[in-house]
This record gives sequence, structure tokens and C-alpha cells, in this order.
Amino acid sequence: MKLFDLSQRMENVQSSPTVRLNALAQELIKAGKDVVNLTAGETDFDTPEAVVEATVTAMKAGKTRYTAPHGTPELRAAVAAWFAREFQLTYKPSQVTVTAGVKQGLFHLILATVSPGNEVLIPAPYWVSYPEMVRIAGGTPVVVDGGGEFHLDLKKIRKLLNSKTRMVILNSPNNPSGGMYAREELEGLAKLLEGTDVLVASDEIYSSLVYDGSFVPFASLSADAYQRTITFNGLSKSHAMTGWRVGFAAGAAPVIEGMGILQAQSATHITSFVQSGAIEALKESRADFAPRLQDMRERRDLSVSMLREIPHLELEVPKGAFYVFPQLKFYMDKLGGGSEALAEYLLTDAEVAVVPGKHFGDDSRIRISFSKDRKSLEKGFRRIQAALAKL
Ligand code: PMP
Ligand code: GLU
Repeated sequence: MKLFDLSQRMENVQSSPTVRLNALAQELIKAGKDVVNLTAGETDFDTPEAVVEATVTAMKAGKTRYTAPHGTPELRAAVAAWFAREFQLTYKPSQVTVTAGVKQGLFHLILATVSPGNEVLIPAPYWVSYPEMVRIAGGTPVVVDGGGEFHLDLKKIRKLLNSKTRMVILNSPNNPSGGMYAREELEGLAKLLEGTDVLVASDEIYSSLVYDGSFVPFASLSADAYQRTITFNGLSKSHAMTGWRVGFAAGAAPVIEGMGILQAQSATHITSFVQSGAIEALKESRADFAPRLQDMRERRDLSVSMLREIPHLELEVPKGAFYVFPQLKFYMDKLGGGSEALAEYLLTDAEVAVVPGKHFGDDSRIRISFSKDRKSLEKGFRRIQAALAKL
């Protein structure tokens, strides 16, 4: 062991590529480069004014001291009421915990329930942080390849389930593909898991951003699915509150308790006065969100139509979230590399920043975020079209 050696636990853990590439694009822009940053997993809307006001009022009223680790009783009750209103899912406040974003909540769940030697099934394409979190906990991430189109391969999952399987992590609507699982697929998985001790972590952070079809919360499928599912949601995407760090989880009380122990021993709780803003945010109705949803739908349509002008490209139209995940193998072959080589080419040649699909479990694709303003999107896609045409 040397002075600056990191722990054994860190040996197989990578830093977050989405966070890293977004920071890199921002640095280049600051240095005067005309980079179109299509890496970011965040919208350009402002946080609703009422949320800001409620937070400032709380701060001025002296709500600046420690709160309970799971969040204030008022906020836990507000989250429980929100689940009931949005999805007809009944949770007691004791079944709810509030974390610094869904990211911290997932981290706590995995650390609290996955033991060394356990396997965690992660259908691909998946959000970059899931496998790393499982590794940090000493578990083994087992990627379930979907085979191109976004769907749950129940046959593969059936084969992979064994006595070491501890959890399945679902993310629908999906980052990076914008895909959404069909109800029948989710019902099939719920049936498959009956009688097992496999938890489901259902990351539903994009549930408000659905353009086609209807969103199905996994916990709503059956009494058994409700029991085994920890449902995650948050304010980052729906309320343009990425920097505020507010996420919540709901599920079986013993698991939520475990997550609370980790919170109490680490951050203690999320920022006190932010919790008052979160209560205000949860009052927002679907009707309040409708104009923002329509705006994002138009950006999706623009992105899809501009991508469709590119030959040799395969594209599944995103049903939700704010990403497109086109297959660009033809151009990668021309470059003689994979998704990292193509992303690097687009950054240097076209000054457009995107995220290589490799980090999401598919090296033949790149992830493009369409949460940007229309002018930037048009500029970015024009540049991508021109750069690819050169190949
Ligand atoms: N899950 C998914 C699928 C995401 O894309 C993100 C990041 N944008 C998160 C969780 C984490 O979000 P946050 O921590 O901001 O709530
Ligand atoms: N989740 C967003 C993304 O995928 C934000 C960055 C991150 O937390 O990974 O880009």
C-alpha cells in the first residue's frame, strides 16, 4: 500500500462519463470554442418561480438547521401524497425517503441491499452509473443485452436469474434511448420474479416526460410487484431542478430504513430549506407541466427529422425522456473505431459534444440530448450531418 493509493473498492470503479463530458464541453465553451453541447441530461427551463420563493421564504424563516435524515415529516408526507395522486400508489410516509437526487437514492439502495457476491441484472442500454454503483457495493453487474430495439428480453432474464441475483434495475422511460417498456413486458418480468428474493429498483425519473404511449410504474403491476419494488423519482428533470439535488424513493419500510441509516451516516439529510421548495414543487399538476412537455415534444420531433436526413443511420423514435440514441455503425466503420472515436471526431471536426454509446452498453450508438434550445439543436444537427457526410 502506498500513501495515495485508493481503496481496493475503487479499483474497478470509473468516474461518470456523462458528468465528465458535460464538464469538458462547458470548459471548451468557456475557453471561447463554439461547441454545441448535446451531452447534458438537463433541461434549459427555469426552476418554477413558486419553488424558488418557497425556498427563500424558508431560508429567511430560519429553516436552516438539521432535519431528520429521511427529510422533514411534511416533505415525506408530500411525497407519499404525490405518489398517490400521480400513480394511485399508496405509501405511508415511513415508506418514503428523500435523497440528494435519484443518484444518491440509488446509491443508498444498492449499498444497503447488495452484498459482495450478489448479482444485479441491468437491462441494456442503461444509465452509466448503475454498474459502477453495483461494483462499489462489491456486487456483480450483469448486463442483459436487449439486442438493438429497446425491450426487456424476458428469456434472457429467466436464464440469468439464480440464487445470487439480488436486484433488477429498470429505467423506463430510458436514458440513453428514450425507449419505454410495454406493459406486457413489465408484467412478464413481474410474473417471472414472483417467489424470488429479487428486488426491483425502478428508476422512473423521466415518468413526466412521455410523448407516445403511457407510462406504467412497475410497483403498480401487482401486489407482489409493489412489495419488491423500490420506486425512484425526483425533481431534477420534471421541474428543471438538477442543481437542487432532490430525489425520492418509496418502497418496503425495512429497505427504506436501511437507506436512511446510510443517509444519517453520510450527508445527514438533503439541504433543509430546499425541502420546503420541494414541497412546493410537488404541488405542480400535470396541467402545469403540459407546456414544457409540449416544448420537449417539439424538440424531439425536430431532432428525429434532422437525424432522418442522415443516410445509413438507424433510429428508434424516443417515446420519452430527452435523448436520441442513433445507431451509426456505418460511420464508425469508416473511422475505424467505435462510439468513442465517433464522439471524438464530432467534437473535433464539428464542435458538437455527444456521449459515446459505449458507456451505456452499446458501442454502435451515440447519445444526443435534445433538451437544448431549438437554435442550438438545429446548429448541432446541421454540423453532425456535414461531418458525417465527409466520411
Ligand atoms: N437516473 C437516470 C436514468 C438519470 O438519467 C439521472 C441523471 N440525469 C439520474 C437517475 C440522476 O438524477 P438526479 O440525481 O439528478 O435525480
Ligand atoms: N444523468 C444525466 C446524464 O445522463 C446527468 C449526468 C449524470 O448524473 O450522469 O447525462
